[in-house]
Order: sequence, then C-alpha cells, then structure tokens
Amino acid sequence: MDTSEHDILPADADTRVRTLLILGASGDLTGRLLLPGLARLVRLGRAEGLRLVGAGSDDWSEEQWQARVDSSFEGARRSADEAGLAALDGVRQGSTYFCLDVTEQGALATLVATLEGPVAIYFALPPAVSQLACSALYADALPKSTRLVMEKPFGTDQASAHALNTKLAALVPEENIHRVDHFLGKATVFNILGLRFANRILEPVWNNLHIEKVEVVFDEDLSLENRARYYDGAGALRDMIQSHLLHVMALLALNAPSTLHERDLRDQIGSVLRASSVDAGNPDSSRRARYTAGGIAGRSVPDYAAEPGVDPARDTETLAEIVVSINNDRWAGVPFILRSGKALAVKRKEAIITFRPVSHVPTGFTGQDSPTRLRIGFGPDTLQLELDVNGPGDIFSLDRTVLRAELNATDLLPYGEVLDGVLAGDPTLSVRGDTAEDCWRIVEPVLAAWASGEVPLEEYPAGSPGPASWGPGTAT
Ligand code: NDP
Repeated sequence: MDTSEHDILPADADTRVRTLLILGASGDLTGRLLLPGLARLVRLGRAEGLRLVGAGSDDWSEEQWQARVDSSFEGARRSADEAGLAALDGVRQGSTYFCLDVTEQGALATLVATLEGPVAIYFALPPAVSQLACSALYADALPKSTRLVMEKPFGTDQASAHALNTKLAALVPEENIHRVDHFLGKATVFNILGLRFANRILEPVWNNLHIEKVEVVFDEDLSLENRARYYDGAGALRDMIQSHLLHVMALLALNAPSTLHERDLRDQIGSVLRASSVDAGNPDSSRRARYTAGGIAGRSVPDYAAEPGVDPARDTETLAEIVVSINNDRWAGVPFILRSGKALAVKRKEAIITFRPVSHVPTGFTGQDSPTRLRIGFGPDTLQLELDVNGPGDIFSLDRTVLRAELNATDLLPYGEVLDGVLAGDPTLSVRGDTAEDCWRIVEPVLAAWASGEVPLEEYPAGSPGPASWGPGTAT
C-alpha cells in the first residue's frame, strides 16, 4: 500500500501551508537535504501553490538564492516529466530571499506578517540560534496557523528540552510544532505497524512470553567525515540513540493504536517511552567505545582522537550501546538493546527480534536448534524470518532457512516525507513535546554514569566490528 495516498489527515485547502520559509538558507541542511526533498514533492505535484522563501544572514540577491534552489532541484529535474519540470520552474521562479538576523527582536515576526499564510517556518539553523530566534518571536505577532519546524538536537537534556517546549507552546499549538525525526520515513513507520498489527501469527507472540530480546542496530561504515564541530559535542548516544533509535524501539514495542491518526499513534509512542528506563547503576546496562586508526573498504581512516576539531579529552564515544527496560506487562524482563556507531566494518540498519526457544524439540532431531529471529531492515525496508527446518541430506538434522521479503517504499526522500507532513499539517511523523523530553530522561542516567567515569571508554580499530571485548554481537 502506498501510504502517501492514504493520509490520515487529508490535506485541507484551508490548512495546507502556503509559504515555506526556510531560515538558514545558505546552510548545509538546506542545500543538501531540504531543497532536494522539496523538489521531489514539487515534481510529484504534492506542493501545488506553495511559495518558497529563503532567509539568512548573508546579503544574497534573489538571483543567488534562486541559483541555489536551481542546483538543489537538479536531481529531481533529471527524471521529471513536462508537468514536473513546469512545477519545479514555477516554485523556483516564485521563490524569494530575505536577509535578516533572525535573533533580532521582532525581525522574524515582521517578515512572517508579510507572507501568505499558513506559513511554515523551518529552523535550519544552529540549535542555539534557533532558540534565540524563538525567543525573539512573540505569540501575538504569529498567526496560530503558523507551523514551527524544529531540527534535532531538540535541547541538550531534559530540562533544556522542557524549556524549549514551554517557549514553543507559548507561540503556537502543539499540533503545529514539528520536531523533525527524518530517520524513519512514513513508509517505514507504517511498514512496522502493518507488519505487527495486521498479522495474526505475529501479534499474539509479540510479548515477553515469546520474545527473548529486541535489538536495534544502526552501524555506519562512515567515519567522522569532517563533522567534528557537531559530532564531537554529541557522540553516538546523543546523535543516534537518544534521537532516533528510541523511536524505532517505541514503534516495535507500542500497543496497537486504535487508528493511525497522529493522536492515537503518538499517544502509544509516548506511553511506551514513559515506561522505559535504563538501570545505569548496572554495569552491563551500557557500553561505549571510540575508533582508532584503521581501514574501511581499502580506505584508511585516521584515529578519531587525532581528527581536526576533535578534543580527545571530551571522551566522545563513536560507538554506544544501551539496554533499555520497558516496565510494563507486555515487556517486563525483555532487554531492548540499542546500538549505534561509526567506522564499523559492516553497514547495518535493522531491528532484530529474537524469540524464546520452543519448550521441547522432539528427541531424535540433531543439528543446531537456533532461535527464531525476525529481522526488519530499514532503508531499504526488508524482512527476514530465520527459521529452523529439516536439513538437506539428513532429514533428522535441523538447519537454518531464511524467508526474505522486500517491503514497499515511497518515491520521496526522507526530507521530502518530513516536508510532506509539514505542508499537509500532519504531525504523525514528528516528535511530540512530551516524547522529546522523555527521550532525554531515558538516556540522562547513562550520560551521568559515563561522565563520572563509571563506564570505561573502550577502543576499536576503524573497519572492525567493534571492541574485541564486545564479542561478535549476538545477531550478526
Ligand atoms: P550550517 O552551519 O551549515 O547552516 C546554518 C545556517 O544558519 C547558515 O545558513 C547560517 O547563515 C544561518 N544562520 C546562523 N546564524 C544566523 C542568524 N543569526 N540569522 C540568520 N541566519 C543565521 O548548519 P546545518 O545546515 O548543518 O544544520 C542546521 C540544523 O539542522 C542544525 O540544527 C543541525 O543540527 C540540523 N541537522 C543538520 C543535518 C545536516 O546533515 N547538515 C542533519 C540533521 C540535522 P550564515 O552562514 O550566513 O550565518
């Protein structure tokens, strides 16, 4: 099913965003991800009548901005038909640019007042500047239909996320605040829900009686790639686990929402995260490591600590793992192991559900009785069910077989899906305020234990599977 054709909140002509105002027009996110994502939407006719406005502190001419839009639209132009090309040209030609300091009191509100509403303000700014820009806004000057689109990181801890939520709540209603999580596209979210809740063979066994553990792994083979300025202050736990993997976990663990309406779905996500915690006092509840020099696919990778812009004394981890408990009836006793790292041997982006062993295998079978595993791969979305069957040759010997399937995807890029939700006023994919705070609450005890040196910072050579002491991993 193409979920994009089945919006739960149908686009209403009165609530659809008329103007997309991107703050940080000259920035990396805008050029590399936002504008190409928007271009796909425009090409597919999903941004009809939209006016694009860029703003930044650079004194750009309209032509300079339009040239940037043009080059970011290039990829979408290549595969566009005549109507798509006309739509892309239309958005580019109608696009304007304003030079302004968004932190100046009233400057942003004055600009917004001149634009046709509803306006979506996309804060593609450094987080500290976004916060100053919000402080410089005032509710009375902002139509309530204005959408505020906030990038990650949302705050730096629970208290700052709460303060930012309070600030935003004074400006517009919660449903008009989009806290972006581009990690899971709409197709992936609904693929997980469809798989879990539309299949009788899965839903009844999806609990602690039948599932032994759940792992969510996002291993990258990329290293720092010149991102020290951001990454060295964040690390793998904040960058990936706090912001993205906890959401994947929530989708895997939530109770069935009654409908796919954002309220029902996000209530269930909120509920499962509220029940989640890490017992940071337990030394087995988290691990951290940092890569040293090595090689990946014939490419040599320098020691993380020696990279320009890195402060080795910060002890920033490039590989993190935490064990989350979900303290409810369905999941008590099942570890949810979340792991993410950089410069690893193999790129992996998957959830692995390991089932408990059967209570008795008939005596007479030989071979290895391995646990049943379900692997859900993300981007591209895939499914693998690992089962024991009778082996070739000796019919009494158990052997492994894997049933594979590819799940459906959309034509939109991740940021196209983000913007699709923003323009249609559908916050289903965005992170609700209470959830943003809860994600910090869950990881804060781990960050505190790490800061006080209770968990050693281990090392692994770039291009290896991780520290030797971590073993091969349970489900590689
Ligand atoms: P950049 O540093 O590349 O761009 C920041 C932009 O903000 C620049 O265009 C800059 O303009 C503008 N800016 C800074 N101060 C002001 C000001 N006072 N008034 C107006 N404009 C200002 O950052 P990124 O694009 O990389 O990141 C933006 C946000 O997106 C961050 O929150 C980041 O965490 C998030 N993000 C980024 C990703 C990425 O891959 N880049 C991925 C996921 C999230 P100027 O240079 O003219 O000052």
